[in-house]
Amino acid sequence: MTHADLRADMLRHLTYSFGKDPEHAHIRDWRMALSLAVRDRIVDPWFDATRKTYAGGHKRVYYLSMEFLIGRLLEDAIVNLGLLETARDAFADLGVDFTEVLENEPDAALGNGGLGRLAACFLDSLSTIGCPAYGYGIRYEHGLFRQSFVDGRQVEEPEDWLLQPHAWEFQRPEAAFEIGFGGSVDESGRRAVWRPDEMVVAAAYDTPIVGWQGRWANTLRLWSAKPVRAFDLESFNRGDYVGAAAPEALARTISRVLYPDDTTEQGKALRLKQEYFFTASSLRDVVRRYLSEHDDLRAMPEKVAIQLNDTHPAIAGPELVRLLHDEKGLPFEDAEQAARGCLSYTNHTLMPEALERWPEELMASLLPRHMQLIERIDQAHAKANPGRKVTAIEDGEVKMGELSFMMAHKVNGVSALHTGLMKETVFAELNRLHPDRIVNQTNGVTPRRWLLSSNPGLSRLIDDTIGNGWVDDLERLSELESHIEDNGFREAFAEAKASNKRELARFVRETEGVEIDPDAMFDIQIKRIHEYKRQHLNILETIAYWRAIQENPDRDWTPRVKIFAGKAAPGYVFAKKIIHLVNDVARMVNDDPVTSRFLKIVYLPNYNVSLAERLIPAADLSEQISTAGKEASGTGNMKFALNGALTIGTLDGANVEIRERVGAENFFLFGMTAPEVVARRTVANHAEKAIAESPELARAIGDIEDGVFTMDDPERYRDIAQNLRGADYFLVCSDFSSYYDKQREVDAAYRNRDEWNQKAALNTARSGWFSSDRTIRGYMNDIWMARSAL
Ligand SMILES: *Cc1c(COP(=O)(O)O)cnc(C)c1O
Repeated sequence: MTHADLRADMLRHLTYSFGKDPEHAHIRDWRMALSLAVRDRIVDPWFDATRKTYAGGHKRVYYLSMEFLIGRLLEDAIVNLGLLETARDAFADLGVDFTEVLENEPDAALGNGGLGRLAACFLDSLSTIGCPAYGYGIRYEHGLFRQSFVDGRQVEEPEDWLLQPHAWEFQRPEAAFEIGFGGSVDESGRRAVWRPDEMVVAAAYDTPIVGWQGRWANTLRLWSAKPVRAFDLESFNRGDYVGAAAPEALARTISRVLYPDDTTEQGKALRLKQEYFFTASSLRDVVRRYLSEHDDLRAMPEKVAIQLNDTHPAIAGPELVRLLHDEKGLPFEDAEQAARGCLSYTNHTLMPEALERWPEELMASLLPRHMQLIERIDQAHAKANPGRKVTAIEDGEVKMGELSFMMAHKVNGVSALHTGLMKETVFAELNRLHPDRIVNQTNGVTPRRWLLSSNPGLSRLIDDTIGNGWVDDLERLSELESHIEDNGFREAFAEAKASNKRELARFVRETEGVEIDPDAMFDIQIKRIHEYKRQHLNILETIAYWRAIQENPDRDWTPRVKIFAGKAAPGYVFAKKIIHLVNDVARMVNDDPVTSRFLKIVYLPNYNVSLAERLIPAADLSEQISTAGKEASGTGNMKFALNGALTIGTLDGANVEIRERVGAENFFLFGMTAPEVVARRTVANHAEKAIAESPELARAIGDIEDGVFTMDDPERYRDIAQNLRGADYFLVCSDFSSYYDKQREVDAAYRNRDEWNQKAALNTARSGWFSSDRTIRGYMNDIWMARSAL
């Protein structure tokens, strides 16, 4: 296809789909027209994929996730279809800026962070591999809130990506299910019958997800909640307009907003309703599709694999048993066995406060039949494993992790370390009973988005050096290794990074009004704000470095720019304080005439996928500094290494595997190991001791305590200081010295720029294993028993 064809299609859509004359078209009109022209090219491979799946009788994978952090789709689709140059040329003499068109697309933030982004990378890999699959989730009207800062404080505004027409989705009025809540269970007949007293309609919206080179396309099906009856005409005719609209408002509430926190349990009935809503509609769709081709429900595991992304869809266990037993008449045991044969569960956290538990009472009132079935599943498990005390119901609560484990044939962790800890801690007893059930699948990221499209400079260099086979076979990046000895390659690699850094410096100047030197080290920590991720360790080290420069301003310091981005859950007070602190410190440090040649701090607002795509290619140093044992995997760490940033990090999550692969000499390791963390917590006054041993730390904490950065409000950070001096559960103080010293090694290493570039290039060359294509092949082989249909 030529640029002239694409342009003709675009102009046709502009005119006939949107009724716009090119002369009066806004940038958004061009973006919509281009999106539809590109979408047209996805529809045929999409239909082909469906036909092939039916014709070949292939097993289908269903990925159930409460979150899909997909970001923008237009550039991704263009890149996957190999149309980037064509599309650029199509705009060449229209007087419309192509980059502006791409950046006009709203960033679909239907997720919080790593968990939702993983689901999005998996969709891309499933399509690239040609594994027949559906993603199932919720079509939130409002995605993750938009973040801005007012006087350094986080302010949240609703995200309204759906206010404008969405170019990628197809509404499916024919695919709708009625989903019930509440009511009672009638057990008078031969089968139990659940009679809900509240119904909503789940309406499907499909987005095609095209893989690399357009060889295959799968579907992301998102459910939107609608009322069973649009409005109450009787109330309306009586003049009660508010009452007439009430059923609609109530029903729509279910898909109204994404919960802005995936790490703490939300004691909210609405959250449980959301979980049941999307899980139940997805399962009904799955069973309907299966029965359109087969009739033996017991054999469903041969054709159906359902992956639960964390426990949010854990109600799938009892719901599938209910569908097969109550509604389709299989004996309970057969229903349970068929359900388990289909289901598998991914665990994403070991932190007890983040493991979902629902009060039995709430479960019984919203889902009375499910509560009965959960008891029965629990009893069946106890009966099969006599003498063992492991239950899904405890102290009046349903433990969704245990329930998921019992109803899954495989349970996986997301990095080697995390899977090992899972076996030793949360699921120790269940692992003893079912030693083959837990497997590891280390996370990965899609190279199409996180290298090819976000880092065109480096991608071009890689193409020129080893060809473009790496795009769907990322381990071929290892072929770069033999070129790293070559000065020309190293210089070109450095220039690609330097150019990304200049581009980021321009962006920071234009959006924040802060001047940063592209020749300084760009040291980046971007992720959700959480105590375990320890952004406060980073800012304390920054304060200590600032003080060191102040005391000795004539020394030859290594210039650094510390870049932060990340949102805090609106109710997470401590995390919001950390944001405020970083902003307060930034204001003071950036204005310091003595130190600002050497140190700048930037906190960019509204971290999302698009901002990550801009920042990661420009990073020299990647901050992965969580308390060991707390970060299940991390995926940000992989994106950075792939783009040639060196990591400063703890032995946590996938950092362990990144370090093994890129080589210990190309990774800045610091801090305690997971077992040392556990031991350290038992030491009395561990924080106080660590502070006493580090004058740098003592001074930095003293500074925030004394109001050095908050002259107007010296008390502001008292509680952060108190926490650090007291409980310090995440061991910021105990790891500080090790971190500070390692950062000085980083400084020294950055001064030998050629050696640094070599290490950076080795990070890229050796990160191929962290492709989500490899992860998906692992799931296909070890968990789903599914094959590519290509
Ligand atoms: C990759 C990514 C994450 C996950 O980052 P971690 O550092 O692994 O926590 C979160 N948010 C966005 C927007 C991402 O792209």
